[in-house]
Amino acid sequence: MELKEKLVAVHPELDAVRAAAGEGPVYVVGGAVRDLLLGRGRADLDLVVVGNASELAAKLGAEPVEHERFATAKVTIGGHEIDLATARTEAYAEPGALPEVEPAGSIEADLGRRDFTINAMAIPMGEPSKLIDPHGGRADLDAGVLRVLHPASFIDDPTRALRAARYAARFGFELEGETAELLRAADLDTVSEDRREAGLLRLAGEEEAVRGFALAAEWGLIEPAPDGLELTARTAELIADGPWSLAEDRARMLRTMAMQPVGRESELVDARPASPSEAVELARRFDPPALVSARVRGAYWLDEYVREWRDVKLEIDGDDLVAAGVPQGPAVGAGLAEALRRKLDGEIDGREQELEIALAAARAEAGG
Ligand code: ATP
Repeated sequence: MELKEKLVAVHPELDAVRAAAGEGPVYVVGGAVRDLLLGRGRADLDLVVVGNASELAAKLGAEPVEHERFATAKVTIGGHEIDLATARTEAYAEPGALPEVEPAGSIEADLGRRDFTINAMAIPMGEPSKLIDPHGGRADLDAGVLRVLHPASFIDDPTRALRAARYAARFGFELEGETAELLRAADLDTVSEDRREAGLLRLAGEEEAVRGFALAAEWGLIEPAPDGLELTARTAELIADGPWSLAEDRARMLRTMAMQPVGRESELVDARPASPSEAVELARRFDPPALVSARVRGAYWLDEYVREWRDVKLEIDGDDLVAAGVPQGPAVGAGLAEALRRKLDGEIDGREQELEIALAAARAEAGG
């Protein structure tokens, strides 16, 4: 399939953009071009306008992104997200600092600020059969290599090194020789904590996060916690589905496992609860990520907690105790807690017995 046909097939939302853009200098850029050439489907589209993106954004009814000095905007058309930006160049006054940004007079100038050749290609909206590829991105894509555009790239912005780990993990690409050398000299310490953290979280958000962390460690970018890589791999498997699934927090969880030593949850690893009720009492003091951490570190007893014990509920509630004459207050809680404990340990069964035990315990509490 020709480039133009691929573009139309993968991004039907471009029809609306084409109508709004007219003859204007609007380009599909970056990851969208890369993924198109790779034959990977993709949800979002990045567009660059040479001049000012505001006009096109307004025509498309896009929401402007407020904090940006140069017009950028986001719009969703037919369920597809489109990011619009004004073409710009960047100059780095200091390693790792945020760049000084100027408008770019051409799409080539905008492509020149990008991280890797495979991300530095553009397709003009008005001429969608043409690939603008000033840095040999297409050849690198075919060869499966990541190559920076200039030798100072990682000095300007060391977070690009983490981006390299992300792409290498996702696509199974290699670093080109000189890029590999430059990357080994990258110093993430020159970057603010926030930006470093954002880079790590994005790495952790990859399907191949474990491979990404392994590469980042191998390249000397990060120093994982003791056993961090092994634990991250186990965690990814554990939380993928089933009772331990943690879909929403996956990235944060993997990032923590890779980088952070064990915390308070080591108590769970060392514990040998003698009964289900003891297990519940201990485990419920920890949040789900701490439970996952303890489980991959060997607290296998937590499997039963997560599968069964955590969800054991009484058939009675506080109203039943109050109706039976227990005064409102701590006695109600004490009664219910005792009934739950006995139920968890298999000593009682059914509503009647729950009520009997709970009342006895509540009265003892109220009386004592
Ligand atoms: P993904 O598929 O992970 O979203 P993407 O290529 O769309 O990848 P973004 O982080 O959304 O990645 O960035 C969009 C584009 O902006 C990139 O393709 C790249 O050209 C450029 N870019 C982003 N971050 C940097 C950076 N730190 N330095 C240089 N160029 C960057």
